Amino acid sequence: MLTRSDIRAYLTATGPAQEELFAEARRLREEHFGPTVILRGVIEITNVCRVNCDYCPMRRDNTPENDHYFMSSDDIVARARAIRDAGIDIVLLQGGETPRNVATLEHAIPRIRELFDGRVEILLNLGNLRRGQYQRLRDLGATSYILKHETSDPDLHQAIRHEPLEMRLQCFRDLVDLGYRVGTGLISSLPGQTLDSIVDDIELAEALGADMCSVAPFVPAPDTPLQLEPAGSNELALNTIAVLRLHRPQMLIPSVSALEKTSAGGQSRGLEAGANVMTVNFTGADDQQRYLIYGKDRYVVRKQHVEELTRACGLRLRGSVFLDPVTSTDVPVGAGAGKPVS
Ligand code: SF4
Repeated sequence: MLTRSDIRAYLTATGPAQEELFAEARRLREEHFGPTVILRGVIEITNVCRVNCDYCPMRRDNTPENDHYFMSSDDIVARARAIRDAGIDIVLLQGGETPRNVATLEHAIPRIRELFDGRVEILLNLGNLRRGQYQRLRDLGATSYILKHETSDPDLHQAIRHEPLEMRLQCFRDLVDLGYRVGTGLISSLPGQTLDSIVDDIELAEALGADMCSVAPFVPAPDTPLQLEPAGSNELALNTIAVLRLHRPQMLIPSVSALEKTSAGGQSRGLEAGANVMTVNFTGADDQQRYLIYGKDRYVVRKQHVEELTRACGLRLRGSVFLDPVTSTDVPVGAGAGKPVS
């Protein structure tokens, strides 16, 4: 088990020390997952959000100015069909936090399961909901849920997201309790964040029992209160990915588009640092432009990009690790279920 001072030292590693850290992270990924990267397809179902995060162009205060949209359940199912046809068995349904999502997905989820004959991981990323709503979506066939803590510093969390950290953590515990496979995530280099706070983030991901954890460098997006802050360090984000792999080798860790947005080749470096998940965007072209994840100038991940960079890293793509290929029931992370998709 890594100590806090080990983690601190790794987070600031450069040169040969960083190369050694990444090599160990890759070795552990190989030991637990083989030479594979899990491939997801994402559909961004709405850009409307009731939360007001200071780093996000889709924050509540921007909604009146934004060209907002809600996908219908028919559109969502059509996009899910494209994911299936691309040979991907993880459908990530992601959107701003709004109660309207639940009603839409109550219609869409059973139809998506039908499309895949039940052999699909339905992964949700829809923010804080009431426990009863999580239960309803789980009963309808949702498998897994991403609910990022973003920062584990309660004061910074409150200051930057204008909501208590504890509220989000309670939602996380509800999800675990209801049988979801659950992912958290953090933003590194947030204004006001300390290195010790990132150590806390890593320890929190473990304490929560998260199956997945993402790391995204802070992007100062236009039209947000933080737009003039300096961009986050990709090196710190990459070191955090590698430390997470050392700390919890069986974890699913994505190489996120923010790495590519911050620096060309960033997602390839994410894989070099031990990440093992990539997500291809299946949102329609118009809605992609309106989904202002880092503003209009976002990096949209295509399947060809993912295929090229995984091949260049000597890795191959595979399906969900949360599905037994025969019974579609949950299996332990890293147990070798799922199937290669290329
Ligand atoms: S980061 Fe997520 S929760 Fe926060 S404002 Fe943006 S869409 Fe809403």
